[in-house]
This record gives sequence, C-alpha cells and structure tokens, in this order.
Amino acid sequence: MAGIHLHPHDILDEGIENIYRHLAKMGHIKTLFPQVNTIFERNPNPIGHLPHNPVHPVVMGNGKLYAPIDPQSVSPRLYQVGDQVIQDHDPLQMLLDFNQAQYQVIPWVNIFNGQFAGEIQENAIYDFRGNIVKEWLCPNSPDVLPMWTKTLRLLAEKYGFHTFMIDRIRYPDWSGKHINPQELFTCFCSHCQSKMKHQGIEPKQVILEMEQIASMLKKNDFQIAVDTYLQSTFIQNWLRFRQNSITQFVQSLQHQTPELTYWIDLWPPAYSWILGQDYQELTKISKTLKHFPYHKLGGGADVQGFIEYFAKDEPTQEAAYHAFGQLFNLPFKQTYQEFKRFGFPIQFVQAENLKARILSQPGTFIYSGIQMWNISNEHLSEAIQAGRSSEADDLIYYCYGWAELRHFKVIESLTDS
Ligand SMILES: [Zn+2]
Repeated sequence: MAGIHLHPHDILDEGIENIYRHLAKMGHIKTLFPQVNTIFERNPNPIGHLPHNPVHPVVMGNGKLYAPIDPQSVSPRLYQVGDQVIQDHDPLQMLLDFNQAQYQVIPWVNIFNGQFAGEIQENAIYDFRGNIVKEWLCPNSPDVLPMWTKTLRLLAEKYGFHTFMIDRIRYPDWSGKHINPQELFTCFCSHCQSKMKHQGIEPKQVILEMEQIASMLKKNDFQIAVDTYLQSTFIQNWLRFRQNSITQFVQSLQHQTPELTYWIDLWPPAYSWILGQDYQELTKISKTLKHFPYHKLGGGADVQGFIEYFAKDEPTQEAAYHAFGQLFNLPFKQTYQEFKRFGFPIQFVQAENLKARILSQPGTFIYSGIQMWNISNEHLSEAIQAGRSSEADDLIYYCYGWAELRHFKVIESLTDS
C-alpha cells in the first residue's frame, strides 16, 4: 500500500474532495504525506504547469511554514517564517477534517532548508570560502535542534501527530535556485570549525584541499579532481565528520522528543554519503526511510545542471559526465548525450534499492520514490514495476499536484493487474 506526497497549494487550490477523487483512481494508496513547510522549488520542477490546479499554473515554493502555530513564541532565537494565508485556510486541518481516518497521514517536514528568521548568521551553513549559504541551517549550530524540538512538539500537540517524515536532513547539494557546486564544500561555520578541531581535523587543511580541487575543476581536469576528492584523507575525514553531524542531530532530536517517531527522507545511496547521510547509522534511529531513485532525472540530482556548469562543449561534457559517474560509482555505460535524452537506465531503481537494503539495518522499511510527472505512461509503469520488483517494501509517488490525470489511470491499471 503506497503513499503520495501533497503540497499545501494542492489542498488550498483544488480542495480535498477533488484530491480524494483522483487518489481513489490510483487504487492502492494508504498513506498521504502532506508537506508542512515548503522548499524553494518550482512546482512543477523544472518546467511545465500544474495540470489540474484551477488557481495557479505554477507555484514557487517559498520555504515557509503552512500551519497556524507560532513557532517564534517557543523559539524566539530561530524560527521558520509562516505563510499568511494559513490563518483561515489551514491545509493540514482541512485534510484531517475530511480524512476521518480514511488514509494514514504522515506530515512531511523539511528540517535544514527553508525561510527562517532570528539569529540566522549564528545558525547558517558557510562554505569553504566563508560565504553564507542562504536558507540552509547547520546541524552543529546552537539553535536548530531546540527550534525543531519545540516546533515539532507544537505541531504534534495541535494536530495529534505522532510520526513525522523528516526531509532535508543533509547538507546542501549543488542545485537550488541556482547551480552552485561550491555549496558542496560546507560547512565551515565557527561551530563546525571548533568541533572539527576537537576531533583532530584541521579545517584549514581541508579548505586548502578544496581550493585545489576547485582549481582542477576550473581547468576541466575532472578526472584528477575526482581522484583527489576520493583519495584525500582530509576530504575523507571531513565527509565522515559531516555524516556524524547529521546522524548526531537526528539522534538528539529523537532523544529530545521520545514521544515522536521519525521517518527519514534520504538521497539514494549513490549520492547520500556526499551530503552527510549515513544509511547504516541513521537506520539505527529510524525504522522507515524513503529515497528517490528518480531514474529519468538522475536520482533526484540535477546532473545536467552540474555537468553544464563546468563543461560548455560536447567533448568536455562527456569528460565531465564520465568523472561524475566515477565519483558516484555509477556503472552505466551511457554517454552524456544519451543521459540527456533518456535519463539514467531503469536499472538505477533496482540497483539503488539493493544498496539501500544492504546499507540499512535489518528490518528497515524502505519506500522507493516514483517520479509521477514529466514522464510518459510507458516509463511510469516501467518505473513502478522496477520499484515493486526491487528490494524496497513499497512506493511513494512524487507528487500529486504535478501528475497528469492520465498518470493516475496508469497506476490504477497496474493495481488491477
Ligand atoms: Zn556549521
């Protein structure tokens, strides 16, 4: 019994009755994952329009909280900005009122990325050149854990939630509003630097190594850059430091809120390690995870944006794509031109689910994400079948509002068969 992701604008613009009518067509949905706070994502991403939204053809995510609680009252030093609209239109409450236990409802919360206010400079992520990474919070900063402890409690009390899906429990990747690979080289805030030193890691040496890798990339020496990245002890220690920082944050959050259960949203294993996500350790804390092996889009990563940031002509792009494949240990023999036309091959879904199974603690429930937009009917059913025959336990569809109505029918036809 699968799940599907809902955005606040789906509920506010379409109304719950409409949504439930479409969901009924899918046949096998058990769990709804309504987003509590948005990210800075174009809906739909990266192009197109919302096919069944009667109000907005496109919605730009604003990183705000869509629940009429007052997080500033419990956490004045740092809090997420709330969207004005929700005072009389509370999408979570509208959903719960209509639902009457028909579906399981697991609220989806983005942790380190969003529009926050208060002591931002004290809690932000900083890159290796000392630039603040906008709208990202550091797991080692002082106010983030207390903020989320109190905010999640407020949400749990208001709506009666016991379980949350927590997403963006990671460091920034290279894409967001703009492509910026520099954001992969974080965090060097004062809190991280002193914690690193305490653990015998000298931040200056890590930064020096990163400067060298950056200059290799600038000269299009992609292979040397990747080899240096993978072989450098400084980089490896720093990667481990980041993974430990994320794990410790989730551990502390669980410790502070023992009454709540957390499901975790991770990147597929091919990429998770570079963003600070350690499947083995995180699944000691959480028994349910979701990852998104979007095979057509490169596993959720903006691979094309990354390659074309560095490489402008075709031969250089091929070299960059080859090095990218080496960095993330992707075994595909396809060219960059093939990737641009077809995306990753379908084997990516099964390969990443197998890795997720091997890396996770025994008994972990694994959801495999299914891309439900910007995809042909044929590729959608291929992805569903690949997900079902993989090591994953079930599927989560992403996402309701972006999917065309014909996609609901495809899923229904597969359910009946
Ligand atoms: Zn930091």
